Order: sequence, then C-alpha cells, then structure tokens
Amino acid sequence: MEFSFTSDQRELRRSIREFAEAEIAPHVMEWDEASHFPQEIIPKLAAMGLLGVIFPEKYGGAGMGYLEYSIIIEELSRVDGAVGIIVAAHNSLCSNHIFKFGTEAQKEKFLVPLAQGHKLGCWSLTEPGAGSDAGGTRTTAVRRDGGWVLNGSKTFTTNGHYADVCVAMAVTDAGKKHHGISAFLIEKGTPGFRPGKKENKLGLRASDTSEVLFNDCRLPEENLLGAEGEGFINSLQVLDGGRISIAALGLGMAQGAYDCSLRYAKERKQFGKPIAEFQAIQFKLADMALQIEAARLLTYRAAWLADSERAADSSGARITREASMAKLYAGEAAVRVAGEAVQIHGGYGFTKDYPAEKFYRDVKLCTIGEGTSEMQRLVIARQMLGK
Ligand SMILES: Cc1cc2nc3c(=O)[nH]c(=O)nc-3n(C[C@H](O)[C@H](O)[C@H](O)COP(=O)(O)OP(=O)(O)OC[C@H]3O[C@@H](n4cnc5c(N)ncnc54)[C@H](O)[C@@H]3O)c2cc1C
Repeated sequence: MEFSFTSDQRELRRSIREFAEAEIAPHVMEWDEASHFPQEIIPKLAAMGLLGVIFPEKYGGAGMGYLEYSIIIEELSRVDGAVGIIVAAHNSLCSNHIFKFGTEAQKEKFLVPLAQGHKLGCWSLTEPGAGSDAGGTRTTAVRRDGGWVLNGSKTFTTNGHYADVCVAMAVTDAGKKHHGISAFLIEKGTPGFRPGKKENKLGLRASDTSEVLFNDCRLPEENLLGAEGEGFINSLQVLDGGRISIAALGLGMAQGAYDCSLRYAKERKQFGKPIAEFQAIQFKLADMALQIEAARLLTYRAAWLADSERAADSSGARITREASMAKLYAGEAAVRVAGEAVQIHGGYGFTKDYPAEKFYRDVKLCTIGEGTSEMQRLVIARQMLGK
C-alpha cells in the first residue's frame, strides 16, 4: 500500500492552494452575498488547465487523473465550494459524459473547447418530478425530419445559465423505461433551448443552479450522445465519477472549516486563556480532524480506483460502491465538521465576519447533490447484495 502523494501531486496541491488563496479568497463573501457567478475567474481556471483536468492532451485536456482532480476540487473548495462545484459539474459531468460516450467527431467539436476552457459545460438529468428517481424523466426527444425535437424542462442544473454546451437526458422510447432515455448535446443559442429560473440557494450561492427549458428544440441526428436509449444507463457511470467530485468538494469544505476553527481557537480568549486550551474544544478539533482524515482516505481510494480502471482501460468495470461510500461519508462528515466549526466560533460563528457560517451553509449540498445520502445508502446496499 502506498499512502503518500507524488512530488508532482504535492506541487499541484501547493499551486492550487496558492491560486485559491490569491484569486478566490478575497472575493468569496462578496460573490456569495450577491449570488454573483464568478465569470471573471473562468479564464484563469482555464489557463491552469482546471477545466479539462481528466482528459487526454489530444482532446485539449491536462492529461491528469482522478487523484489530481480530487486534489484540485479539494483545494478550490477549501476556499470556496461554489468554485469547486462549477469546476466539478463542467469536468466530471458534462465533459466526462462526452469523453466516455461521444464519437470522435463529437469529442473534436464539443470536448476539445470544453477541456481547453474556451467553453463551459452543464449536465441536465434532474427534473421537477424526477430527482432521486431520475429514471422518471419526462423530457422527450422525438425523431423528426432526420433529427430530433426536444420538449420538457430540467431543474437544478449547475452552470445552467452560463454553459455553452449542455448534455441533457430525454425519453426517446417510453416503453423501454431505463433503456429508453437518451443523452443529447445542445449548444447555447439553439432555438427552443434556454435557461429558466435561477435558484436562490441556501449555500454555494456564487454557483449557478438553474432550470433548463426545451420548447420544440430541434437538434441534428449527430447530437445524439452515446447509443440511443442508453443515456440514463451511461449517466449512472458518469455519476460514479461525479460522486468522487462531491466527496472532494465536501472534504475541501470540511478542511476549510477545520482550518478556520483551529486558527480561531488559538486566538479567542475566554476565562483568561485561548479556548483551544479547554478540553471540550480540543475534543471537537480532534473529532473534526479524524473525520476529515477518514473522508480523505475514502475519497482518494475511490479516485485511485477510478484511475486504475482508466489505466487498465476497463471501461466496463465499475467503481460504484467506492464512489458512493466516499461521497456519503465525506458529505455527512463535512456537515458535522462545519456544524462544530460554527460552535467553536460561538456567536461569531453565526455572523458573516467569519467563514464558518458559509461553510455551514455550503456543505449541505454534499448530502443532496448527485444522489442524496439516502440514495447512496441504497446504492451501497444494492452493490453489497449483488443487485
Ligand atoms: C446546488 C445543486 C446543484 C445540482 N446540480 C445538478 C446538476 O448539475 N445536474 C443535475 O442533473 N442535477 C443537479 N442537482 C440535482 C440533485 O442531484 C437532486 O436535487 C438530487 O438528486 C435529489 O433530487 P430531489 O431534489 O428531487 O429530491 P427527491 O428525490 O424529491 O428527494 C426528497 C427526499 O426523499 C428521499 N428519497 C427519495 N427517494 C427515496 C427512496 N427511494 N428511499 C429513501 N429516500 C428517498 C431523498 O433522499 C430526500 O431526502 C443539483 C442540486 C442542487 C441542490
């Protein structure tokens, strides 16, 4: 077993932390308060290769693996989970769906500009009536005049308003249920396609979470992504990778909440001494650190497995159980850690003068997005029972 990162990985972590501290940290509260989507940071993320982390260089990517990707998402989220989720939805949902299931022509046309960061991507599976039960998709795609016509509405799409490319799932054969949903590539500006309501959220407020609407949206035949009818099944594989992102997102935010709590506990004095000298506070910090380390082990194990699978080119093999375990544990641990961070800050933890309250709001997404904690438990149990 090997538990250490390579020197390249350590250097990557250092450079992303430096970037996040310099370019993101000074604006975090301003963006959050205004629900401002930080478009100004996108070219900087692109220049660092962060919009094509897990894709080969021949497709415009940085040619890195899930371990490096997890380091990047963790370090961005340690400073701002909103930036973490923007990068995660672009990389591991939209772009990865194209990378895994697209034709060479689709990769050339769509993946290359996404991976180079010239374009931003979003991925729309969830609908108002189809969340955990995503197989209950209602949006339809009907064959007409040698192409497709899409009708329906998606909800909760990260980057929905700002994306140039959307991968969306729609029913192509209702009789075939889960094997009757297909994936489609839609470009911004396509008639009949537009973002709808932007959600006013509890947390991750600088990220964009929006409806995506289709009204007689015509697409050419070549915008079908993957085999007809396999869009939902392919989405499950895409979500395996996506869950590693959410684990890293939770891990990063938990680390950020811990770091600010440790700092505060050493500075804040009550009863004539720093509160860090009270055993009650020490035990909180110890429990926080323990849960973060456990989350880190699960997250990086899942990332390592994903890389091993890619190296072996075993696209059939799955990392479902490990990705779900990492996502479930890291997400729930992050919620507990952020709660203790507020507690350690006392009344100041309830104010916007300290970062604890933002972590507390932001981490909650990790027990909901890309499958709720309840659904992760179902996924893990099904894997254990061989279903
Ligand atoms: C900030 C944010 C970003 C998102 N980004 C995206 C995105 O980019 N693309 C996308 O497609 N989606 C996205 N989502 C949607 C997200 O994946 C869904 O919200 C999530 O899957 C849950 O669906 P739901 O909200 O409809 O909840 P529901 O499915 O209605 O669940 C409500 C409650 O019921 C429980 N429940 C449901 N079914 C069961 C069951 N069988 N057993 C036990 N409990 C059950 C759930 O666990 C939950 O507690 C995002 C959501 C948020 C909040």
